[in-house]
Amino acid sequence: MRVKALLLLATACGASAHTQSESDGPCLSIGAWNDLHGQIQPVELWVDTGTVPAGGVIALADSIADLRATKDIVVLLDAGDLFTGSLESTLAEGAPIIEAYRAIGVDAVAVGNHEFDFGPVGYTVLTAAPDAGDSGPLGKRGALRARMTSASFPFLSANIHLRNGASPGWPDFGPSTHVRRAGFDVGVVGYTTTETAVTTSRANVDDLDFISHAAASVAAEIRTLRATGASPVILLAHASLDGVLPQSLDQAASSDEPLHGELASLVAALGKDRPDVIIAGHRHAWMLGRIDGIPVVSSDRQGLGLARIRFCRNNHALDLLSIERIAVLAALPPRTELGRSVAARTAPWLAAVKASGDASVTTLPRECPMQAVDGTAGAEQVAAAMAANAKVTSPPPEVPVVALINAGALRAPLHKGEVRFEDLFRTFPFEITLGACATTRDGLLRIMHNALANPSAWKHLPFALAGAQITIAHADNGSPSLVRMELAGEIQPGSGIEPVWLVVPDFVLDGGDGFLEGVECTRTVRTGTRIRDVWREVLGNHPDECDSRRPHNITVRLRN
Ligand SMILES: [Zn+2]
Repeated sequence: MRVKALLLLATACGASAHTQSESDGPCLSIGAWNDLHGQIQPVELWVDTGTVPAGGVIALADSIADLRATKDIVVLLDAGDLFTGSLESTLAEGAPIIEAYRAIGVDAVAVGNHEFDFGPVGYTVLTAAPDAGDSGPLGKRGALRARMTSASFPFLSANIHLRNGASPGWPDFGPSTHVRRAGFDVGVVGYTTTETAVTTSRANVDDLDFISHAAASVAAEIRTLRATGASPVILLAHASLDGVLPQSLDQAASSDEPLHGELASLVAALGKDRPDVIIAGHRHAWMLGRIDGIPVVSSDRQGLGLARIRFCRNNHALDLLSIERIAVLAALPPRTELGRSVAARTAPWLAAVKASGDASVTTLPRECPMQAVDGTAGAEQVAAAMAANAKVTSPPPEVPVVALINAGALRAPLHKGEVRFEDLFRTFPFEITLGACATTRDGLLRIMHNALANPSAWKHLPFALAGAQITIAHADNGSPSLVRMELAGEIQPGSGIEPVWLVVPDFVLDGGDGFLEGVECTRTVRTGTRIRDVWREVLGNHPDECDSRRPHNITVRLRN
């Protein structure tokens, strides 16, 4: 209707209608991305029959320069998980990303779950002393606070509170902000996934509440932003939807499979205080669609994509003209001044970690696979390293130790020949630490059943273990089940109540992958010792351990 009205006006008095539309001024382009995960240089993206360099914050800067060259007014937003993932960003606890974002001119970021990974200042310490509190470099969020202090933009989340309901009071942190530029007033409200309590190091967030009044807090911020003149209002959310994601704004909402997941529940709970657009993240996936009519977009991960959300003034209203998704392919060297500037400003960090990354860990006599498909050699070696280091968890005497690692913790194989720390980091990019708890033989059986019940277990073994031997049988339809378990040193299967000391990543202790669902595991211990470091030491001393030809602790056969 609006377009039609303008056309009629143009017919009646062409020139003045034209002037009117010109006096509406430049349009607004919001450039947005999510889940950069510390990526500075391009990653090798698999396309068609080969790989192309893509993503990384340097290439992203090139794409942002293109956006600015359109002469639109540009506002830049990141939906969270900025820091953890690459060697150079993780070792410096995110500092190079802040440096890059200062050069780029980022306007606001949402707080993602992984923003809490680093704990106190210093790569060597992951969690603070129990009485360290929240202030100063040695506090629970020392590293994050340092990044917030040096940033030129706010960190946003409306649903992070202290357990007593108060605001955390971090520097440059708030529920929402106005980005005012060239007559535009963009309201931005942040949101952090309620999964954060179990998807970062728990000790770093155990005094925070992400859940209570989450939707009400977001709705209140949207209301305030509108009342104070913001338009458009953007929900910058480190959260996503479940299931198959929509890929078009026009995609008719299929009635047999309505959108579901955290963002759908959030929007439903907002009532009449709705944002104009949602920028999503956390799932590392492309998405373009509508949640209850509100446009939503997210752009994969690691700077592989940039969303351009374009608004233009139309008389006194603001029209959403388009949402475009731009693939960020990398030019080497960078092709714009901004790209070159970001490259120059991040170069010292790349140089600083080069020595650590290049440090030799071991020399492998053969390939060490990590995927459980054709042998669990590598993953099993990690479990063995965890079992060998179980003493740091103070296991009760005379109780069998079983170590278990979730397959998702291990991301790449180690190749034959020299293994550098950087290779090890790629295999094991997460800051997960050694934990333990006391269960029983039956508890352990339940864990196996939980793990095998996940449909993904039909394709890949979901864990590797040490300290026990198990046999898994696949039914004709591929579904696996446990047929036998034998603890190391066990003469005959016990009644089930025998104690077992379970050594696992803190991720599993915190509910990750659902392994511990319904399992009684008490006397929980968190060591703060990275499993990557435990493994580095064992691998350095025993490179021969990783031999896929050796008998494994897990036997897989077809059910007969
Ligand atoms: Zn996330």
